[in-house]
Amino acid sequence: MKPRYKICVLSGDGIGPEIAEATYGVLHRVEQVFGVSFDFEEALIGGCAIDATGTALPEETLALARESDAVLLGAVGGPKWDTTSPEAPRPEDGLLGIRKELGLYMNLRPVQTYSAIASSSPVKADRLENVDILIVRELTGGLYFGEHATQAGVAGAGVGGAKGTRAYDVMEYSEHEIERIMRRAFEMAATRRGRVTSVDKANVLDTGRLWRRVAHEVATEFPEVEHNDMLVDNCAMQLVAFPAQFDVIVTENTFGDILSDEASVLAGSLGLLASASIGDGVSLYEPCHGSAPDISGKNWANPIGQIQSAAMMLRYGFGMDAAATAVDNAVQKALDDGWRTRDIAQDATPASQIVGTHEMSEKIIERIREDV
Ligand code: NAD
Repeated sequence: MKPRYKICVLSGDGIGPEIAEATYGVLHRVEQVFGVSFDFEEALIGGCAIDATGTALPEETLALARESDAVLLGAVGGPKWDTTSPEAPRPEDGLLGIRKELGLYMNLRPVQTYSAIASSSPVKADRLENVDILIVRELTGGLYFGEHATQAGVAGAGVGGAKGTRAYDVMEYSEHEIERIMRRAFEMAATRRGRVTSVDKANVLDTGRLWRRVAHEVATEFPEVEHNDMLVDNCAMQLVAFPAQFDVIVTENTFGDILSDEASVLAGSLGLLASASIGDGVSLYEPCHGSAPDISGKNWANPIGQIQSAAMMLRYGFGMDAAATAVDNAVQKALDDGWRTRDIAQDATPASQIVGTHEMSEKIIERIREDV
């Protein structure tokens, strides 16, 4: 009997449905080539869920996610739902909520560069050689999940010292939260180039000092893995100046969010980057970019980040390493053969090789083979 997996698809807002559509084609091809069956079921998250149900993460969505083998997510958000009201529902509540509810404490963001499109990157080509970074971001602690509050009418908080509004967000980490992600980061480094850079702000933050202490403790369990600490501000600079020095970068939630977007410029476009969010149960796979409202509905979106997220689902969720490698190779070949979406087209790209979302996925699908 063929292996069968149930995939919960949450395409979300903006370009989400376009890139999800492109990814269905890739997964159908994987079904044909690798003798596996996928059952896709769709549900709402983000802005579209707010419109339909008043909440960004409806109960049915969560129930479907919990009973699936994996969740494939597009992106959420857009100007329609932008609000400064603390009470109004926000699309991001859906994203943070599902990560929390599924206990997804680890976000993996691989950053690799493709030589065929090296000139799409603002970083000099010689700095991009041998760049192969895995950013391991803590996902359910820190600032985004600490106490948040906005207090109006506070004496001295207003402009010129008058009564005004004050807001705060609490950053909190326990040893346990740091230890479990740190251990996973070292385990991953042991299967790669054997180097962990632990990123913190230990010179200023108590959470940073705890982070660093736990990193050193876990490092003693992995004598074969090299380990260094780096302050986040230095890391932000080193990432663009000397990116090839990094193997695994492990960091807390907010720093990981910012550093992984920064690292995306190495690849040439945010549209290329994939991610996996992993806990102890069902995992979630999503591209690193947002809903790109500026290009939504135009068939301009680069589907590679979403397609590579599906490849991560095959690898980490279903243990289908050969299929995941076949998808990775097909992406590489499509780029080597000159096919480009607009975000990675260069001045010299012939117009005939600049394609839309759907066509780019077709080029990738054609190149998925078992024997690669
Ligand atoms: P964004 O990632 O949506 O877009 C940033 C820039 O990158 C835009 O110019 C966009 O056109 C481009 N881009 C992004 N993905 C692309 C792709 N696949 N192909 C080609 N170009 C692509 O970030 P933003 O503009 O800051 O945010 C837009 C909305 O997305 C906001 O509502 C934000 O809250 C939301 N957002 C959602 C997520 C998520 O769902 N995980 C992440 C970040 C932002």
